[in-house]
Amino acid sequence: MHPLMNQLIQLQELIVIRDEQKVAGESEHLERLDASIKTMIAELPPPTRLLHGKLFSKDHNVLSPVSSGICAVCGMKLPISLVQAVRLGREVHSCPNCARMLYYQDVAARRLAEAARKIGPRKVGIVRFSSEALMIPNLVSGDRDGVIAEMAYQMANEGFVDKAEPLIEEALRREALVSTAMNHGLALPHVRGVEGGGLTLALGLSAKGIKFDPARKVVSRMIFFIVIPTAASAFYLKLLAGLAETFSDSEARKSVQECKDAATMWKTLIKVTRATIK
Ligand SMILES: [Zn+2]
Repeated sequence: MHPLMNQLIQLQELIVIRDEQKVAGESEHLERLDASIKTMIAELPPPTRLLHGKLFSKDHNVLSPVSSGICAVCGMKLPISLVQAVRLGREVHSCPNCARMLYYQDVAARRLAEAARKIGPRKVGIVRFSSEALMIPNLVSGDRDGVIAEMAYQMANEGFVDKAEPLIEEALRREALVSTAMNHGLALPHVRGVEGGGLTLALGLSAKGIKFDPARKVVSRMIFFIVIPTAASAFYLKLLAGLAETFSDSEARKSVQECKDAATMWKTLIKVTRATIK
């Protein structure tokens, strides 16, 4: 890959994290993120900085991975010669349709077509993104890494993703950048850039609480493990906002945390998110 592209990918990742934190109403890491983003933009060569600024003013996703010959963000089928040039990485190329800067991505994990049908496209609210099979009333693990593995395996075992291992690796890499622990005992470990299918989430409860952020004293009791296809990036922010709003209410938190089985958890989650997640 072109070294400049590596720089741009890191920058993009920090921008995405900053957007997540803002949407969720978290201020813990904002100052540090802002400073890093500013420095990284200043370090870009002037023509790239200009292009970045231009794209950024329209949409915060200024990069797009190429997967299966398609620009993953806008969905345009790219000429084979362009796909090869992006793969070679000698220079930075833009998508002819959406103008985003392209990079080549090896597919980490793919959603199964069958699993996508399990959820069904026409429903509304949280039922579009999850299912009773992804509710875990009693997480067995007592630490962050164990919980992430447990939830990824649940998704794989229930047929929502092909393999758990790449998801675990990627979710841990993301946690190492900035913790996904949020206010009110929520944590939202996640994996982006998953190919195919829709956004999928699992919810795990821990009565004891999991120390998700080594820098904070608080523990997380409700853990949402989320896989996000590139095309659903913007949607993920809406979901995040909806979850943060729902569970800023202590009654909503209590009603979910008191559930003893997956069926009750699922029903309760649908009920409490009815007004906040459309
Ligand atoms: Zn495009």
